[in-house]
Amino acid sequence: MSTRQGRHFLQIPGPSPVPERVLRAMDMPVIDHRGPEFGKLGREVLEGCKTVFQTSGPVVVYPSSGTGAWESAIVNTLSPGDRVLMVETGHFATLWRQMAARWNIEVDFISGDWRHGVDPAVIEAKLSEDRGHAIKAVMVVHNETSTGVTSRIAEVRKAIDRASHPALLLVDTISSLGSAEYRHEEWGVDVTVSCSQKGLMLPPGLGFTAMSEKALAASKTNRMPRSYWDWQEMLKPNANGYFPYTPATNLLYGLREAIAMLLEEGLDNVFARHKRLGAATRAAVEAWGLEILCANPEEYSPVLTAVLMPTGHDADALRKVVLENYDMSLGAGLSKLTGKVFRIGHLGETNELTLMGALSGVEMGLADAGVPHRAGGVLAAMASLRGAKPAKATLEVAAE
Ligand SMILES: *Cc1c(COP(=O)(O)O)cnc(C)c1O
Repeated sequence: MSTRQGRHFLQIPGPSPVPERVLRAMDMPVIDHRGPEFGKLGREVLEGCKTVFQTSGPVVVYPSSGTGAWESAIVNTLSPGDRVLMVETGHFATLWRQMAARWNIEVDFISGDWRHGVDPAVIEAKLSEDRGHAIKAVMVVHNETSTGVTSRIAEVRKAIDRASHPALLLVDTISSLGSAEYRHEEWGVDVTVSCSQKGLMLPPGLGFTAMSEKALAASKTNRMPRSYWDWQEMLKPNANGYFPYTPATNLLYGLREAIAMLLEEGLDNVFARHKRLGAATRAAVEAWGLEILCANPEEYSPVLTAVLMPTGHDADALRKVVLENYDMSLGAGLSKLTGKVFRIGHLGETNELTLMGALSGVEMGLADAGVPHRAGGVLAAMASLRGAKPAKATLEVAAE
């Protein structure tokens, strides 16, 4: 039993903290999902999703995790034996590849160092070589949550077009939707996969796919067995706001509220806020003298920052100290990054002062855990948030 007072700081890059407004919106009696009241809720959220995905086409909502939405994207557009192009941006790209392989998809996996995003030039070269158009889809992760690297999806689209290749573009926006700029339609994405518990500020439990007309056409002729995930089964009742099976009613109340919050702030302001928080976090990391995992400044994630530990120091030991001393959860390094990095989430229900609280917890934790660093990260982050340059003298005083 925790005897802590105040809020736990959930600074992992998903699940992210759920705003009070969303929690209250979900605190409702469960209603008849075939009744008239539900139809109204269903139509509202399905319409609202289109605005958030920035598409005029349908968005399907499953009671599932993001992994379920990955599966939905695969089984509705591809056939056993199809070839696809994927890029090893990190842990999540690797998991999606494993899933594709289990569905008998032949994956051409472009290897990566887990510090860079998708290179559009490599996509263009691979597709240009494929004169017979054997590659059916390019499948990439927009914001690689294991590394804090955001790939340039609009440029990936342009690379596909330059190669004049008909492959579908399937994109995982599980940790970026509602935090990082993303435009399904304008960027020519065919399937966008997402989920509830990251940028959308909801508890876990909803998976989403948005699809283009081309993806819908593929779903009518592809030969992958499916039932629960079938888009056509979903889209029929969705036209009137209903679902083919029992939906996660109370999460949909939360979704309606979360969409309202995003639109009240304005999507462009939401994206700008995340960029500002990301920049302040990086200012802190640089002042501490620690290294940011993302190696390309053009691909810095506005959603989270992954920080490399100095050699000989264990990220999980630091995370344990921060949890015990300051009641804050930081993201762990995943698979081959275990113990080597920790991740600071700055997504969703986060503002300047919650970020400053989180960075203070990290700076105190670094000192408590005996991790070599310079003081002054918190000062640098404050200066970044104020749009000022940190005064060098101030930093030196703080470091004594
Ligand atoms: C969290 C995450 C997933 C997995 O989502 P689940 O809801 O845990 O299934 C997949 N891809 C990315 C980029 C993620 O951040």
